[in-house]
Amino acid sequence: MNAPLRHQPEADPLLPPLTVLIAAPRGFCAGVDRAIEIVERALEKYGAPVYVRHEIVHNRHVVESLKEKGAIFVEELDEVPTDAPVVFSAHGVPKSVPAEAERRNMLYVDATCPLVSKVHRQAERQIEKGQHIIFIGHAGHPEVIGTMGQVPEGRITLVETIEDVGRLTFGADENLSFLSQTTLSVDDTAEIIEALKVRFPGIVAPKAEDICYATSNRQAAVKQIAPASDLVLVIGAPNSSNSVRLVEVSRRLGTDAHLIQSAAEIDPAWLEGIGTLGLSAGASAPEVLVREVIAKLGEWRTVEEQQVMAAEEKMVFKLPRQLTD
Ligand code: SF4
Repeated sequence: MNAPLRHQPEADPLLPPLTVLIAAPRGFCAGVDRAIEIVERALEKYGAPVYVRHEIVHNRHVVESLKEKGAIFVEELDEVPTDAPVVFSAHGVPKSVPAEAERRNMLYVDATCPLVSKVHRQAERQIEKGQHIIFIGHAGHPEVIGTMGQVPEGRITLVETIEDVGRLTFGADENLSFLSQTTLSVDDTAEIIEALKVRFPGIVAPKAEDICYATSNRQAAVKQIAPASDLVLVIGAPNSSNSVRLVEVSRRLGTDAHLIQSAAEIDPAWLEGIGTLGLSAGASAPEVLVREVIAKLGEWRTVEEQQVMAAEEKMVFKLPRQLTD
């Protein structure tokens, strides 16, 4: 832990100071940084408007600031004029989407995180080997739709829970493999994988872990702060899978947690009787939101910040060549 930092002179001097344990790493990951930069570079290179299929990352603040620069967010490709550039979000898209863009001769840039693309390639290889894929993920999440859309229909089955594993009807000698969404709970997924291995001892595992480094590191950091905190706040959107998992991680360790999209959502009543507050942010939440939360807390209490570092991150992903040439 670093040396505490005191500030916020406006806080009520009669109330005890509030220690804020700030998880590190938190906030933007390399895939989110890259996706945002792709939209910004596309705006520079092609001029506004640049269309973006689905929220580029699940964060209102990011989406609004890109809108101000000239990005237009849509849900489907048929909402994009054929002569306008379009960016596919960091979550990835089914194969049918770039195929449709090519059929319409559209200019598109794929901002799929390279770690999601890696799962897509693994899915293709597993299908080439004649395996049926059991995919661990959350139904309806765009990454799940994108990954399931990499393989022919009927060759991949989604499981969300251990109970779903129990309901699978494959024979023990079926040629099966598994993969997972990149932003799941590390602990829940380990349990589901264990259940799959017990049920289907011959099931083939992916070459490398699918849950990404950013998801694992943010969960590890919350595991460090939660036991020492009376309450944990996680900055993130309700549709951000990795952010919601951080709330779950804290609650599972016995520390209540709230997901907030911004400082404005903090209810001051939450702080009553709280001496130590844990704070983290999902992979799509910018650091400015963390600073706004600290400032808001400082309006009520004198804040002592402490960073709690679980891992160092140096990952950087290359931009697509069409934006750097
Ligand atoms: Fe990529 Fe992981 Fe970030 Fe998702 S959370 S964009 S998979 S690095």
